[in-house]
Amino acid sequence: MNHCCEELVPPSDSSFETFARPVADWQARLPAGLSRSLEASDQNLGHLEEEILRMTRDLERKLLEAVAQKKADQSPPVCPVCGHQLSRCTRDHPRTFQSRFGPGTVKRLRGWCRRCREWRFPADPALGLSETGGASPSVQEMAALTVSKMPVQEASAVIERLTGVTLPPATLDREARRQGRRAAKKRTQLDAQMRAAAGGQQVLPLPQQPFTLVIELDAWNIRERDDWGQTGKKRAAGQEPSRWHWVYGGTCFRLDQRVASESGRAHILSRGTGMTRGGVDDLREQLFAEAQRHGLAQAAKVLVVADGAVWIGNLAGDRFAPAEQRLDYYHASQHLWAVAHALHPEDEVAARVWIAPLLKQLKDGRATTLLKDLRTLAKRLRKKQRQAVQSEIAYLESHRGRMDYAAARRGGEPQGSGAMESTCRQYQCRFKRPGQFWSCAGDEGLMCLETFWRNDRWHLLSPHILHGNPSRN
Ligand SMILES: [Zn+2]
Repeated sequence: MNHCCEELVPPSDSSFETFARPVADWQARLPAGLSRSLEASDQNLGHLEEEILRMTRDLERKLLEAVAQKKADQSPPVCPVCGHQLSRCTRDHPRTFQSRFGPGTVKRLRGWCRRCREWRFPADPALGLSETGGASPSVQEMAALTVSKMPVQEASAVIERLTGVTLPPATLDREARRQGRRAAKKRTQLDAQMRAAAGGQQVLPLPQQPFTLVIELDAWNIRERDDWGQTGKKRAAGQEPSRWHWVYGGTCFRLDQRVASESGRAHILSRGTGMTRGGVDDLREQLFAEAQRHGLAQAAKVLVVADGAVWIGNLAGDRFAPAEQRLDYYHASQHLWAVAHALHPEDEVAARVWIAPLLKQLKDGRATTLLKDLRTLAKRLRKKQRQAVQSEIAYLESHRGRMDYAAARRGGEPQGSGAMESTCRQYQCRFKRPGQFWSCAGDEGLMCLETFWRNDRWHLLSPHILHGNPSRN
């Protein structure tokens, strides 16, 4: 006995011709409606735009519904997961979805996959509908894009105002989280392709002449509350619930992509960023893939610029071993300032006078002389001051080979990790608002969405959009 569904005939045609009449009616009515707006002296182009949208919306919704139905009817009765022929098929199972033009419904076939031992609806993946969410791909994109940039309540109002789509905050939040998980999965796939040397298509066009690849790293804190309602219990057990967690970030770009803007500030034309709550190991893999996309294998020189934190040294040594490292100039100068304040604890003017020639040495790349001078100075100090100064000397000593800022200037290279720091600040505008608490899974997903947008790979998450260049760092 054959339980296959091949013989199941698609239902009657719902072709585009069905729309010939409504379109004609609409064309006839539209000018009449608009002429009222034209005559009203207090109405401008904005009124006309709103009016046309209002009048066409229902037609668009119906058209989408009809075409979606046609596509659903064309989906063959095979399992979308394993490709096995479905059995025990029945038709007309309704599925309601939220679209760019309002809610719609399709009726689809349901069949049993004997291999997966699951009921399947082959039309759903063909239409881009997820198993659980009720949003069309366009609405999925709206949720992902807005919620990764602004709080859910605000995003819900913005979407409604700009598109007329009603998505209550709870629904929007669920959809954005789903999109975040999808993005994280996609990132893992893309990065794995790069590691396996199968990501040739992801590599950006590279110049013929030798180039320098710059990598900058930094970290910041995010506030999370994973143990909701557990605070009292934890404290009673002598544990302080942890709230703040590190987010690790890195960015990479070719030096020739760093150009001066009209105001003289450095501006980077194209770069790849990694940002994660998944720990240093996750960042290392993300950034390695990102650097490969930006020509790590072809670079004549790789330069790592950062603030000298231990995790950064380890990461750089691990994945970017032959790279030259540079200590962020501002961080180096802060350690000199610490010496200045140890010597002149209550006299800011004296501290300034003392530090001026040393900052010049630092800038001029004379770190060896600078350190020698500091050691001579330390010898003359009393115990407490000497200890304070020696700990700063030890820090600078440990980065001695990373402080040639004169060479950096000559080579037109960055002297600090300002590009990464400003990127971190931009993420913080979304993730560190007053009163915000995150869950690790929630913030990682949204950060991942934001990173796809910044890295100009948004189209990989929403293949329905043509690959333009919607974002700029
Ligand atoms: Zn199956």
